[in-house]
Amino acid sequence: MKFISTRGGTSPTSIDTALVAGLAPDGGLYVPERLPSPSEQLAYDDLAATAHAVLAPYFVDSALRDQLRDICTHAFNFPAPLRALTSSDAWLLELFHGPTAAFKDYAARFLAEVLSRLRQPDSPPTTILVATSGDTGAAVAAAFHRRPGFNVVILYPDGRVSPRQAHGLECWGDNVRTYRVAGTFDDCQRLAKQALSDSELRAQVALTTANSISLGRLLPQAAYYAQASARFHAEHGTTLNFIVPTGNLGNASAALVAKRMGLPIGEIVLATNANDVLPRYFDGADYTPQAGRATLANAMDVGAPSNFERLRYWHRDDAELRAALRAYAVDDATIQQTIRQAPQRHGVVPCPHTATGLHVLESLHERGDARPWAVVATAHPAKFEGIVEPLVGHAVEPPPALAAALARPAASQPLANDYRALYKELSP
Ligand SMILES: *Cc1c(COP(=O)(O)O)cnc(C)c1O
Repeated sequence: MKFISTRGGTSPTSIDTALVAGLAPDGGLYVPERLPSPSEQLAYDDLAATAHAVLAPYFVDSALRDQLRDICTHAFNFPAPLRALTSSDAWLLELFHGPTAAFKDYAARFLAEVLSRLRQPDSPPTTILVATSGDTGAAVAAAFHRRPGFNVVILYPDGRVSPRQAHGLECWGDNVRTYRVAGTFDDCQRLAKQALSDSELRAQVALTTANSISLGRLLPQAAYYAQASARFHAEHGTTLNFIVPTGNLGNASAALVAKRMGLPIGEIVLATNANDVLPRYFDGADYTPQAGRATLANAMDVGAPSNFERLRYWHRDDAELRAALRAYAVDDATIQQTIRQAPQRHGVVPCPHTATGLHVLESLHERGDARPWAVVATAHPAKFEGIVEPLVGHAVEPPPALAAALARPAASQPLANDYRALYKELSP
C-alpha cells in the first residue's frame, strides 16, 4: 500500500515515510492510494482489535506491521461507548474517556506509539511543536510525556482556553514545555509554521509537528466509527448515521474513511460553530477560508479547515462532495440553549462542541428525520465547566483521568507574539 499527496507532486511513498514526514514534500496532505476493506471480520466488542482490523491493510508494507496489534493495544486502551440518548433513536458516541477527556487522545496516543517505534535509537531527540486551541496540545503532551527521544513544545493563546484546558496544557513538566502566547490561535499556528519552515533552525533541532493533517492522526480515528457502526448494524440490522462536531475536519474525515472502507455508515453530517465556511460551501457557495472567530466551542474555532484538501481529493468535483456531506452552523446562543435543555431533552450534559451536534440532531428530528443518529461527543463537559455548570445549574465532576491531571501542579511561560522569541526558545 502506497501513500500519495493530494497535490500529486510527489512519488508514491511508504506509510512509514508519510507518518514521520507529517506533510507531503509538495505541501499536500498524504492519502492512501485506495481505501481498502478491513483485514478481518470486526471483533467489535474490543476497540483495540477493531482498530487493528481497520488499520492493518494500510500497514502491510510497514516496518511496524508485526507490532501493529501491540500499538493498537497501547493506543486504544480506553473505550468509545455508544450511549443511548433519551430522545428517540439517537445515541452519543462518547470519545472522551481518555487521559485528557477529548477525542484527540486516541490519535495522539497512536501517533506517539508509532513515532517512538520508528525512531532510530541513536538519533538526536525530536521536538514536537504544537500550536493548540486547547485540546490537541494536552492530548499530544499526555501521549509523549516522558517518552525517551521526544520533547514537546506547546503554544497556546493566553486567555483563550478554559481554565481546565489551560491546566491540562501546563501540568506535565519533564520533556514538555508550555508557552502561553500573547495572541490568538492563528498567531500560535503562524509561529509554529514559521519554525517548521525555518531551515536554519531545523539544522540545529529535529523539529516536527503532530497536527491533525498527519496521517498518523487521521487513520486511527476510523477505528471508533468502525466499531460503533459495526456493532450497531449487528444489533439493529441497519446503518448508523453520524453527526460530527467539526473544526479542522480531522474527525469527520476519519468517519468518511470508515464509510469508504465499507463499514455500515449511513449519512455523515457536520456540525460547526459560528465559523461557517463549511456550511456555506455545502450550501453551494465557493470555498472561502476566513480568519477563525472565537466561540464557546473553542476547539472548533477554525476558519480554514486543514483537512478540506483531503475531502476535495476524495471526490470528483464540488457537486460530488456536496452530495456526500452536509454541514450546519450553530451559534453561541444556540449552544447555550442546547446545553441548558440537554439534560431534559436527551438525558446528558454535553460540552459546548458536543452541543453543536445535539442541536443539529434536534433540527433533523424537527424536520421529521427518523433515522438512527449518533452524535459524536468530542470532549467531556467537565473540561468546560465555566460554560456548562451555570447553564445546567450544578457541578460537573471531572472523570478520574482529568481529575488526576487537575491535581498535578501546573506551570507555563509567557511568550511574545514574535517569531524571534520562539526561535530563541527552540534553538539549543
Ligand atoms: C478538536 C476538537 C473538535 C474538532 O475536531 P476536528 O477534527 O478539528 O474537526 C471538536 N471538539 C473538540 C472537543 C475538539 O477538541
